[in-house]
Amino acid sequence: MAQLYFYYSAMNAGKSTSLLQSSYNYNERGMQTLIFTAEIDNRFALGRVSSRIGLSAEALLFSPSTNMAEIIKRENSAQKVHCVLIDECQFLTKEQVEQLCDIVDNCDIPVLCYGLRTDFAGELFAGSQYLLAWADKLVELKTVCYCGRKANKVLRVGSDGIPVYEGAQVDIGGNEKYISVCRKHYSDAIEQAKLMKVGTIPKKAIHFN
Ligand SMILES: [Zn+2]
Repeated sequence: MAQLYFYYSAMNAGKSTSLLQSSYNYNERGMQTLIFTAEIDNRFALGRVSSRIGLSAEALLFSPSTNMAEIIKRENSAQKVHCVLIDECQFLTKEQVEQLCDIVDNCDIPVLCYGLRTDFAGELFAGSQYLLAWADKLVELKTVCYCGRKANKVLRVGSDGIPVYEGAQVDIGGNEKYISVCRKHYSDAIEQAKLMKVGTIPKKAIHFN
């Protein structure tokens, strides 16, 4: 029986690399894979999953209105799909996670989802929430904080080097960057940012190293 997998992590844990490696393993055995990525992620060329170590592959794009089940079933009837891989799966909607469950259960195609568990404010993304609830297998891809502890939080840091702790979950086209840190260093950084905002301590960039 096929299964639904959720590979989750903080930023920069090598999710895309892991996805591309899995896809390659199928292709090497002559099996077809279908790769999706979120339309929101335009860091690289549209319709590609690219990893920081230089690998990349073509991908179909999904937005909140995409019917995942319909596309996968259509592709599968044209040519047998052996595995579906989804990058940036935190952006899936509840309905899309339901559609992926349908693909696994009724078409017997494994679906491997890769994404972030929580946003910069420590809240679950919708896609991650339902994948955590419904996936058959939960696999954590680990990355480390600068202190060496496991990083399980993502800080959004502004161009001034100060962490951002309010605002929209997805900041399209912003020039902030995201840093994976442990829970303690996340709390410390947010605390400092709040003190800077009220003027208790002077405003200056926080260094994460
Ligand atoms: Zn730390």
